[in-house]
Amino acid sequence: MCKKLKMVNEKFLSVVVPCYNEQETIPIFFETMEKINVQIPDYTIDYFFVDDGSKDDSLNEMRKLNAAHPDRVHYLTFSRNFGKESALLAGLQAADGELVAVMDVDLQDPPELILTMLEGIQKEGHDCVAARRVSRDGEPPIRSFFARLFYRLINKISETPIVDGARDFRLMTRQVVDAILDVQEYNRFSKGIFGWVGFDTKYIEYKNVERVAGDTSWSFWQLLRYSLDGIVSFSEFPLSIASWVGIISFIFSFIFLIIIVIRAAVHGDPTPGWPSMVSIFLMIGGLQLFCLGIVGKYVGNIYLETKNRPRYIIKEKK
Ligand code: UDP
Ligand code: MG
Repeated sequence: MCKKLKMVNEKFLSVVVPCYNEQETIPIFFETMEKINVQIPDYTIDYFFVDDGSKDDSLNEMRKLNAAHPDRVHYLTFSRNFGKESALLAGLQAADGELVAVMDVDLQDPPELILTMLEGIQKEGHDCVAARRVSRDGEPPIRSFFARLFYRLINKISETPIVDGARDFRLMTRQVVDAILDVQEYNRFSKGIFGWVGFDTKYIEYKNVERVAGDTSWSFWQLLRYSLDGIVSFSEFPLSIASWVGIISFIFSFIFLIIIVIRAAVHGDPTPGWPSMVSIFLMIGGLQLFCLGIVGKYVGNIYLETKNRPRYIIKEKK
């Protein structure tokens, strides 16, 4: 890119910003970040906006910023909505700064934290500094409840640590970014990948901030699906549920069998009641289908991995 024409000693802090229908927030985000830029003496911020197939004027907002700052504002746009994970990947692949930050465009990731993060990397020598929100004010209680439950569950059943409340918002050294890009899987769950690559990560805590404008693009069901994808990507535990349920029901049925045989021998009465029989059949059938569903989910993921389709398609890039 045109970087080679720049001053020899100029160091870049690239900010990767996935955007989906964010026409209102893009200009506000840029303005706020520019104020941060002047407070950082050692680095110049350059931007990598990723338009994830927005249906509003987001792309034009990006074009405008690029026209005004062609060497610092880059953007790429997808041929359709591929989801935030794909947008993050495309942004990280495009970003070429020595340090790279990932940020939401809605200012829910407080930009001033970049300064603290930079200090964490420059002065304290961490490889990555990530933001972790400690409160969920402003979020529907039911969503917070399920979010907490998800973190508790996944940390029990996965070997990869996934920190409760940790956002994608983080500043990373080039080494960490390259490690993340080396993870080639199709079903990407960034929260897990960040933890999986390791490195010395510091978490800074902050209180939840609401969006400056626009609406969240995640529905409850989308979040639920996302959490299940996370579990399937980072834990094989669900696959063992079938074996455990099988062993437990085998032990119980064996005990029952002995009881029935003894009862028939002592009292000579055949065990009555086909309704109880039907209930047991239904229960076992249900459990079998449930376990089959879990296996199916993993098989589905293998199917997607082996098809090896591109994770996004770029329509325009600047
Ligand atoms: N986003 C995206 N593609 C999508 C959905 C969201 O790139 O399909 C972006 C969105 O523009 C924002 C970030 O991902 O910059 C977080 O989205 P949002 O604010 O809707 O999620 P929340 O903060 O509610 O988790
Ligand atoms: Mg948001």
